[in-house]
Amino acid sequence: MTVTNPVTNLQTLIRCASVTPAEGGALTALADMLRPLGFKIERMTASELGTPDIENLYARLGTEEPHLMFAGHTDVVPVGDAASWSHPPFAADIADGEMFGRGAVDMKGGIACFAAAVARHIEKHGPPAGSISFLITGDEEGPAINGTVKLLQWAAERGEKWDASLVGEPTNPDRLGDMIKIGRRGSISGFITVHGVQGHAAYPHLADNPVRSIIKLTEALLERPFDAGTDNFQPSNLEVTSIDVGNAATNVIAAKATAAFNIRFNDTWSVDTLRAEIIARLDAAAADQALRPGRPPTKYDIAWSDRPSQVFLTRNNALIASLSSAVENVTGQRPALSTTGGTSDARHIKDYCPVVEFGLVGQTMHMIDERVALSDLETLTEIYQTFIQRWFENADI
Ligand SMILES: [Zn+2]
Repeated sequence: MTVTNPVTNLQTLIRCASVTPAEGGALTALADMLRPLGFKIERMTASELGTPDIENLYARLGTEEPHLMFAGHTDVVPVGDAASWSHPPFAADIADGEMFGRGAVDMKGGIACFAAAVARHIEKHGPPAGSISFLITGDEEGPAINGTVKLLQWAAERGEKWDASLVGEPTNPDRLGDMIKIGRRGSISGFITVHGVQGHAAYPHLADNPVRSIIKLTEALLERPFDAGTDNFQPSNLEVTSIDVGNAATNVIAAKATAAFNIRFNDTWSVDTLRAEIIARLDAAAADQALRPGRPPTKYDIAWSDRPSQVFLTRNNALIASLSSAVENVTGQRPALSTTGGTSDARHIKDYCPVVEFGLVGQTMHMIDERVALSDLETLTEIYQTFIQRWFENADI
């Protein structure tokens, strides 16, 4: 069974130019790898007005419980300046023990290794005592509207149930074995608008400068930490990402000022409690007249971006222990259990079953010359294979 080789699996996937939202042949290539292993393959296309149609894939081996789901995406980010790559981005060239190509680590490499691991498991032990499925989207790097969320809904409506999920995103900062992600911080973005009164800079009493107010409001968001962090999470952090007045004239006071911010938050907060805290801070700052003596309170509007992400933490010992002991067994290194970094599709999967994330080393993701060490592909395949074996042994505990 050639699917046991993660290197050839990955070459096949990289050679499909699946720059989001294009399928590029990548899901078909994956289906061709999984079908001979006994997987039942289904393709599901999701659409929504104003976004490109997206092809997704769901493949299941077995019909029994327990059911382990591997999740990921075959779409990749654009290559950037193709001429800057030392090897063409869709050639999957191998040089000095590394394979070059867009998606090598994020995350066709993870998929190639998991397919190889399943094939090796079957070769050694026969089909698993339960089910394994692949839930693969073509819409992780794009707007992510027609991807994992809809694919999960679609599968759940057809009666699919999962006991655990592993997402194969690149989670290791430096070396394979560094880090498993067992949760993710939440994320909220907001936009503040202050309405002032336009006027002449020499006659400020006739105007109301919104810059004074936007400084106070943004300071109120930054001046005190939101929390000190928790056992499993770093402290919540807010960044003001933009302050805009759009005024090119030095002798004019502008009519309005806007600011944008994003906060990555831990399990001290929910989306609702954190929004309330932010509004309380802004209201207090709006009433503060330090920069606008004698003036009425600042008038401001706040708009929240759609689709905030809730924080989550996975507490499933069978899943976490199976994976971390597999990593330690193969690499000799005990992985950190981390909740750092950005959001991922795990935030959607957590609504259906416990989920953890482990994949390749992330250093070259989204870069020119994205590449993976062939030795890492072999090691990750061994980790995944050990994990599959241990998870099916532990799943009932
Ligand atoms: Zn990714």
